[in-house]
Amino acid sequence: MPPMTPAATVPTDLVRWPPAAQDANPADALPPLPTMLKRGLFCTCPACGKAKLFNGFLRVAKQCSACGTDFSNIRADDAPPYFTIFVTGHIVVPLMLWLERAETPPLWVHSAIFLPLTVILAMAMIRPIKGATIGGMLKLGLTTPDMPPSNA
Ligand SMILES: [Zn+2]
Repeated sequence: MPPMTPAATVPTDLVRWPPAAQDANPADALPPLPTMLKRGLFCTCPACGKAKLFNGFLRVAKQCSACGTDFSNIRADDAPPYFTIFVTGHIVVPLMLWLERAETPPLWVHSAIFLPLTVILAMAMIRPIKGATIGGMLKLGLTTPDMPPSNA
């Protein structure tokens, strides 16, 4: 049997609650979450709603040209495509099932209707969904301050 080790002492700064980092939350100065989601959905800066959020179709601007909010430390990654697939699937699949039950068309009719519909819906929704995702991440403080600068 190994010898008993003395109980580790807990540093006092780990016991303190709330942590010092939460004393001054910069997200408190931002608008409420529904406002930030709505502004992101309209592809404008979630913080002020005055300037464009995107620099291209899906490329996020480095910072807001109106209020200076930094977007360079927000990485939405796979969340916007995930939400887009989720919403698109919940629109297209019930329509496919309804059409199959109602008319039972041949497979080429399903393909001719639902393949383009899926692409169009996904392309139309991914940009506003990405904007809303960034708005939510900004409000919830889901940023990466030590992210290396991108070369894009
Ligand atoms: Zn702004």
